Amino acid sequence: MKEKRHCPYCGMLLVQKWIGGRNRLICAACNQTIYENPTPASCLVVLNDRRDVLLVKRNVAPKSGFWCLPGGFIEMGEHPEEAALRELREETGITGVIDRLIGVRTNPSRQYGAVLLVGYLVTRYSGAPSPGDDASETAFFQLTALPEIAFDSHEKFIRDIDTGNLPPAFPKSIS
Ligand SMILES: [Zn+2]
Repeated sequence: MKEKRHCPYCGMLLVQKWIGGRNRLICAACNQTIYENPTPASCLVVLNDRRDVLLVKRNVAPKSGFWCLPGGFIEMGEHPEEAALRELREETGITGVIDRLIGVRTNPSRQYGAVLLVGYLVTRYSGAPSPGDDASETAFFQLTALPEIAFDSHEKFIRDIDTGNLPPAFPKSIS
């Protein structure tokens, strides 16, 4: 991850200081602490009616040329489900419906330090996948014949579906 050198609020130099049990960056001029957190993203395990999983071959860094789940970063004001479904449309051209949460993981990232990833299952969708943004290919793969997956957390979400290792599903409204 690139080191931040200047305060994003006043432009003065940042310094290291021990705050709240960690070494953090703080602005020597305006006293603003710069908190570093994982960057939120969401992704989808999309299964067809044969329980094959939809993968996207990346044509952007990081891991260009590797297969991964459809998904991406959550925009400000966007629900993680909306972000995942938007990325699905952008990358594969299909429109999906979220079935349920698979889980939440973090993945180390050279660029962002760490990515916090929310994984959802989709088994209902319309359209036939074709590669769009950030993708050179899209294809369904048998769970027993997966290619090398770009990110560990993506592979683990697929394994969670395969093994049924899922959090309990709660009813939508609890009243
Ligand atoms: Zn400042």
